[in-house]
Amino acid sequence: MVDQILRMGFPRWRGTFSACISMFRVSGENASLTRSQFIALSRQIPLLYFILVTNTAGLAITHVHSTPAPLSIWVPAFLCLVCVVRFAWWLRTRHHDVDAATAARRLRRTVRLAAVLAVFFTAWSLSLYPYGDAYQQIHVAFYMAITVIGCIFCLMHLRAAALSLTVIVIIPFVIFFLSTGKPVFVSIAVNLFLVSVAMVVILLTYYRDFARLIESREELHLRQIETQRLSDENFRLANLDSLTGLPNRRAFLACLEGAGPSMFQDGGVAVIGLVDLDGFKLVNDAYGHASGDWVLAEVGRRLQQFEDSSAFLARLGGDEFGVLLRGDLSNDEITHRGTEICCALRLPYHLPDTTARLSASIGFAVSRGRVERVDVLFERADYALYNAKQNSRGKPVIFSADHEIERRRSGLVEQALAQADLERELSLDFQPIIELPATRIAGFEALARWTNSTIGKVPPAEFIRHAERSNRILLISEILLERALESAKQWPDHVRISFNLSTRDIESPEATRRIIEIISASRVPAQRIELEITETALVSDFDVASDSLRLLKQLGVHISLDDFGTGFSSLSYVHRLPLDKIKIDRSFVGEIATNTTSQKVVKSVVDLCRNLNLDCVVEGVETEDQVRILRDLGCRKMQGYLFGRPMSAEEALSLLTEEVKNPRYYPS
Ligand code: C2E
Ligand code: CA
Ligand code: CA
Repeated sequence: MVDQILRMGFPRWRGTFSACISMFRVSGENASLTRSQFIALSRQIPLLYFILVTNTAGLAITHVHSTPAPLSIWVPAFLCLVCVVRFAWWLRTRHHDVDAATAARRLRRTVRLAAVLAVFFTAWSLSLYPYGDAYQQIHVAFYMAITVIGCIFCLMHLRAAALSLTVIVIIPFVIFFLSTGKPVFVSIAVNLFLVSVAMVVILLTYYRDFARLIESREELHLRQIETQRLSDENFRLANLDSLTGLPNRRAFLACLEGAGPSMFQDGGVAVIGLVDLDGFKLVNDAYGHASGDWVLAEVGRRLQQFEDSSAFLARLGGDEFGVLLRGDLSNDEITHRGTEICCALRLPYHLPDTTARLSASIGFAVSRGRVERVDVLFERADYALYNAKQNSRGKPVIFSADHEIERRRSGLVEQALAQADLERELSLDFQPIIELPATRIAGFEALARWTNSTIGKVPPAEFIRHAERSNRILLISEILLERALESAKQWPDHVRISFNLSTRDIESPEATRRIIEIISASRVPAQRIELEITETALVSDFDVASDSLRLLKQLGVHISLDDFGTGFSSLSYVHRLPLDKIKIDRSFVGEIATNTTSQKVVKSVVDLCRNLNLDCVVEGVETEDQVRILRDLGCRKMQGYLFGRPMSAEEALSLLTEEVKNPRYYPS
């Protein structure tokens, strides 16, 4: 009705009135405020029941003799029992985590119960008044005043209950004691009324501040969540390789470092594997970067299938990937896991307009129960990978004690090479290349020799590799090419000189220019010079390498593709290079008498050379049997220990004069 009146005539008051009414309700709209109110209340409300019970017992005791038992014993006993039950309930549920809806429900119940108890306690205490003497009456007033103030304080966080209590207790109190007409009680009534007004003001201010605090805490919490989400997202992106969807190098290293103490020092087994794609560069060069990216993404997809709690895979950069294996794995099991990965990566890659074939080599380093430094393991895995790429392409290799010995030796060679007096320590051997049927010497291949003052003789396969890692190879090529050409000048005109170029010699225009200068300055006719490059030399940058070869070819020199069949270039690749000759690798010759596959390979290369009008040389011929088979397959030019081991310049020169005297025939 009041609401109706207000609605009709006093719209402004209507708002104020509904605001007042809402103070007596628990809205429950603000979930975090409701929960915080409940938590705060559950800490204080047991105190409220403590105050109620002790104060009530005190008042009842002073009235036991003057007041009938139902009022002085049974009613307070019943009210105290209710209080004790509620006290126990709050104590028990104090640490329960409740949701906002439950909290709101419990708060509403508390408000209702507070109102009911307030009515009963007020009625009970006022009903004692007529039975007591002046002291007891003062006790009643004191009891009511002190109890209500105590309870209001305990209900500070539940505004609705605190206000209900104030209204239910203070109004009857003031009316009752004013109506007694006794100055002391009138004064007490006025006093309590004023104190209550002050308390209500404090209560409202406190509650408003409390609500704001919760609100700002909630905002802060939301902002923290958002900040955390952004930082998680940043972390994820910073640790993810966008192309493959795998974790990136940073994540891999973090996983290594993070897992370090537990992974490498708890006596367990930990395995680092480095995976490198063989032939990826060719795909990139031949089919373009978009195809290269597609292949890498596909590699990522294939690697993801190996991910589980015991295996962490990441892309470390370019076409290199990392694997971390955990668990008590034997070497056989590691090899098995590595082989599975290699097999998955060897399956064809179906690009939109072509199919690419790659393989992957893996180098593993294993830590078995010993405290190993992560960087040492990383270096070992890298070494094992290098070894796999050199000797077992497309397969996993585990770093072994032999590798450790090799690695130490590597360090020695690298050091010696850096300090060596190359002009003095380098020399050349020459190995004849003969032509059937008369085994006439068609040329010599110049082969590098290095005898170091501290570490002695180092085979070229070993030191060239190290020299290629530094710029020393450019100097080595210069020194040796000058010497090789100097020797060739002394040979008959039809005898050619073959010289091995390194990848680095054709990898930059400057280096190539230097080779051209040396050849021009030597005055050896360019047609007598053959420059050998290995297939793997082309892998680093096909376009630059092929441009350099064209420049050299313009001089008139011949270009040979060395070690054919060991690298990764396909036959279709050959015609894109300005080649004159193919040298079939000696690995096909060793087994040619017994292995039909080797025979087929040699035959197809010989046919290819014939079709493309290329010269062809077979390397590593050691037996007469091999010569006969190779001759039957159509080979004419050969090189190998059977015809002559690498020899000094003087020996080469005397061989040239001798061959005229003792010709050896292989009639076709
Ligand atoms: P390559 O170019 O394939 O050289 C042929 C290698 O096969 C030589 O080994 C030679 O001694 C060996 N060989 C020749 N005939 C036979 C045979 O019948 N049976 C067997 N088992 N081996 C035979 P070498 O001199 O140790 O050279 C190894 C590699 O080092 C060369 O392989 C070449 O890639 C590289 N190399 C040698 N000299 C130079 C050089 O001056 N510059 C560059 N960049 N690399 C060089
Ligand atoms: Ca060669
Ligand atoms: Ca060769």
